[in-house]
Amino acid sequence: MKKILVTGGAGFLGSHLCDRLVAQGHEVIALDSLFTGSEKNLQCLIANPLFKFVKRDVVDAVDCKALGVEGLDEIYNLACPASPVHYQYDPIHTMKTSVLGAINMLELARSTGAKVFQASTSEVYGDPSVHPQPEDYWGNVNTIGIRSCYDEGKRAAETLFFDYQRTYKLRIKMVRIFNTYGPRMAADDGRVVSNFIVQALRGQDLTIYGDGTQTRSFCYADDLVEGFMRLMNADDSVVGPINMGNPGEFTMIELAEKVLRLTGSKSKLIHMPLPQDDPKQRRPDITKAKQYLGWEPTVALEQGLVRTIAYFKETLAG
Ligand code: NAD
Ligand code: UDP
Repeated sequence: MKKILVTGGAGFLGSHLCDRLVAQGHEVIALDSLFTGSEKNLQCLIANPLFKFVKRDVVDAVDCKALGVEGLDEIYNLACPASPVHYQYDPIHTMKTSVLGAINMLELARSTGAKVFQASTSEVYGDPSVHPQPEDYWGNVNTIGIRSCYDEGKRAAETLFFDYQRTYKLRIKMVRIFNTYGPRMAADDGRVVSNFIVQALRGQDLTIYGDGTQTRSFCYADDLVEGFMRLMNADDSVVGPINMGNPGEFTMIELAEKVLRLTGSKSKLIHMPLPQDDPKQRRPDITKAKQYLGWEPTVALEQGLVRTIAYFKETLAG
């Protein structure tokens, strides 16, 4: 049994990770400011003696005493709003969350000897000129645009992780996550999968930004969380950054049509302006994840959409 801290533990991905870790018998502390996360996501865990929730901002330094634990074996650093709507709401705080959050978790790892995992992102590749994106592609990111607080914050966090590893010999792990969806995304999250499903179920028009020919690759949450745990439990020599995502690539029009078909909705597609710096294409090269972790996604997009639609039907009804 290990003692494990999950920052962002009340969020979409963090809460699924907490579920899996507690089910394996580990003691889990979820630290979250509840900016985009919700205690509802932790409903099944709250009464479990192996689980504890601490409401806190990762921007503030933290030690074991503040967490009420004697030590830590592992830290998963997931705290950061991931939807463009939410990370652009307070861009300065988003940057602080990535940069100061990384420093605070790295310092905590230094003082406890814990292994520390960073949830990085495909956004480090920006609007990529190499397709699909392998880990050795350095990216094409605007430093001064409206997405930069997130992209550059995550890039700085990557740098900090590797500088701490070189300086203090910390055991680090790093995953670059490509668009992931599933149950427990918030209905008002603003990302495309939840937007389309919620709009379709409410009989509202589906909002296609731009002409809808831009592409994304969508991974189901359970597949991703399995990948996180494989990386954390792999040999210390397997550090990353490792891409994780589903290599299936779809245009936003194709996604909208699938959602309409699977929900049976009569909603129409409407076009809205394309947000500034919106990447035109994105697909992970997952050769490394396969090679080092034997990991690849198992849930196809339509299968995952069916499960996510079922979740939103229930959530919106309640
Ligand atoms: P989410 O918004 O549902 O979860 C983020 C969680 O972090 C929320 O619970 C939020 O309240 C918490 N949080 C935000 N700022 C915080 C702060 N300053 N201090 C403490 N807690 C804070 O998003 P998610 O999709 O679950 O993303 C989780 C992580 O994975 C993020 O780091 C995100 O950048 C990364 N990621 C996700 C995706 C994806 O497609 N889901 C893609 C790339 C990267
Ligand atoms: N998008 C869209 N309609 C929406 C929300 C998003 O067409 O209601 C588009 C968005 O412009 C982008 C893609 O869907 O091209 C994925 O957007 P999301 O916010 O989910 O993730 P990210 O842009 O960070 O990949």
